[in-house]
Amino acid sequence: MQNEIFQIDQSYVANTYKRFPIEIVSGNGSLVYDAEGKEYIDMGTGIAVNSFGVSDPVWQDAVKEQLSRVQHMSNLYYTAPCAKLAKMLCERTGMKKVFFSNSGAEANECAIKIARKYAAETKGADHYTIITLENSFHGRTLTTLAATGQAHYHELFQPLTPGFVHTKANDLDAFVKLADSQKPAAVMIEMVQGEGGVIPLEESFVKGIAAYAEAHGMLFIVDEVQTGNGRSGQLYAYMNYSVTPDVVTTAKGLGGGLPIGAVLIGEKAQNTLGFGDHGSTFGGNPVSCAGAVSIIERIDEVLLASVVEKSNYIFNALQGADGIEAVSGMGLMIGIKTTKPAAEVLRICMENGVLCLTAKDKVRLLPALNIPMELLQRAIAVIKAAAV
Ligand SMILES: *Cc1c(COP(=O)(O)O)cnc(C)c1O
Repeated sequence: MQNEIFQIDQSYVANTYKRFPIEIVSGNGSLVYDAEGKEYIDMGTGIAVNSFGVSDPVWQDAVKEQLSRVQHMSNLYYTAPCAKLAKMLCERTGMKKVFFSNSGAEANECAIKIARKYAAETKGADHYTIITLENSFHGRTLTTLAATGQAHYHELFQPLTPGFVHTKANDLDAFVKLADSQKPAAVMIEMVQGEGGVIPLEESFVKGIAAYAEAHGMLFIVDEVQTGNGRSGQLYAYMNYSVTPDVVTTAKGLGGGLPIGAVLIGEKAQNTLGFGDHGSTFGGNPVSCAGAVSIIERIDEVLLASVVEKSNYIFNALQGADGIEAVSGMGLMIGIKTTKPAAEVLRICMENGVLCLTAKDKVRLLPALNIPMELLQRAIAVIKAAAV
């Protein structure tokens, strides 16, 4: 029997997503339920968005409280959640200013605009090139696609925004050679390539890039759209590398389920954007920001330690298991290379009540930061059995 919603969706929603035949109707923490009442352990959290799971009561209360006051105001006026969230993010990171967007791609667009203006003002308008990594992912707008170092995303959408070059991850010599040959404005990297296969960068490479950028007056931009907000076991993944970025972009898990993105701007470029240089109608929406405050507030040392502990549990349980060739990642952002095709493992997991994701040829796990240990153990047992 074909679910009626599937039919309506297939008729009227643009064909950009290949959906699984499941209609999710409700959830509670790390458990979600489909229209037939089947229960699943959610190891994907809407792609690292529902940081504290589905219908989390603390987040819901924060959102509802703001919703009962005012749902939106233009950026012509002050609202408390926006100001509080910006202060909280700056105090936790040492960054100086925050620009709020609605998504990861828009946060990266803003970071790129900052880099272009900063370089034009400090070095000249010919210093516009942004260096990113091969196999990176920075978003779906034409400019963030240009930043994304994966040719297959580019092919059908030429011409993309000019001024982007890509270099191989973890090859510092290649980066230096490329940067020396260009007039670069900035370098932008993900600490763990998420869509690229959940691959953490090597520390020496990251430190080398940061040092080169500092020495050459380039901005060092870190895309923490997926790795941010506790996912890596630190508030932001760059904190695992002891480097200080000039600009950090984030989104996904920041809002706990509502659309929000943020650009955290460090000392150097804190005043680069002036009145009228950038804007967004929904940016800093008070409901999204109130939800985000309730998320960031709870990402404390105790929670981060539990993220690391659960991460270690996953690595230990999966490494060397039958049908599992490699486990990669950081914190609760895990990639699993299975002998079977990842899609096949996903299908078996789904049948057995566990929802996982893929990234390239890997099974990807992005569970809620507070997933109960008992559910995590059950999900890992299902994944292990599916991989055999
Ligand atoms: C998801 C993602 C983006 C794009 O975010 P959207 O909110 O989908 O625009 C950008 N960068 C990284 C690293 C991501 O994982």
